[in-house]
Amino acid sequence: MKIRTLIIITTCIIFAIALLFGCNNSQSNTKSIAVSIQPQKFFLEKIVGNKYSVSCLLSPNSNPEAYEPNMAHLMNLEKSDAYFKIGNIGFELAISNKIKSNYPNLKIYDNSKGVKVMVGSHCGNNEDGHNHEIDPHIWSSVVNAKIISKNMYDAVVELDPKNKSFYAKNFDNLINELDALNDSITKVLEPIKNKAFIVWHPSLSYFARDYGLKQISMEYEGKESSIKHMKTKIDEARNDSATIFFLQREFDGRQAETLSNELKTKIIYINPMNYNWTQEMLNIANAIGSK
Ligand SMILES: [Zn+2]
Repeated sequence: MKIRTLIIITTCIIFAIALLFGCNNSQSNTKSIAVSIQPQKFFLEKIVGNKYSVSCLLSPNSNPEAYEPNMAHLMNLEKSDAYFKIGNIGFELAISNKIKSNYPNLKIYDNSKGVKVMVGSHCGNNEDGHNHEIDPHIWSSVVNAKIISKNMYDAVVELDPKNKSFYAKNFDNLINELDALNDSITKVLEPIKNKAFIVWHPSLSYFARDYGLKQISMEYEGKESSIKHMKTKIDEARNDSATIFFLQREFDGRQAETLSNELKTKIIYINPMNYNWTQEMLNIANAIGSK
């Protein structure tokens, strides 16, 4: 009896020690990088594999333009080795001072470095008739995704140079995947160059640029359209024979549905903030390419 009790106690102690060491090991091995949006998480996870965990400030269905960061979201940064910005987006500017004062040692990298940004394609015009704002939706483009991924790769190698060959292999695979995706999308869209599509919020300017398409956005300066603005856009959509109306779920769709009925277009819901970025890009291409 005594021997049996001793065996049980010894076994328990061995298990407890194993558990303790197991936890300690996994904790000390998990380094973390924070990103702003889900598509960044998608690219970065492919590069870092199991070497870093990737946390994201924005949840999958949030609207980056209406996002108001609070300290709970920023807590993600506390345990991070670095923060990767997507660049040119309002909430990042809003939190940048908070981040600098709360986490002075956090390394911050801008993933938009080297992206050829578009100006004037996002929201309405200013009083002078021009819109000088940089279009922030740079991730809705395979061309840009390659630049974003290269920026991520360079940053990760700087953070963890001893694993460079591991990251280099993953990065090469990612670039091959992106090239294959670009080929698939080009195959769908090449025969319908210059085709127009409607989108409520102008989130696909870079996508339209890459594949020679025309984006007609109905929203005006982030609000519902005025009657005059809407009439211009309806005429434009009719003249260009647009057949697809993209709508993001986070926007109020009532005015969009009325418009779509009038234009006899098909409403397709999109989520440019989708973690499954490749699938989202393909869905958008296939919708525009469909008859
Ligand atoms: Zn926008």
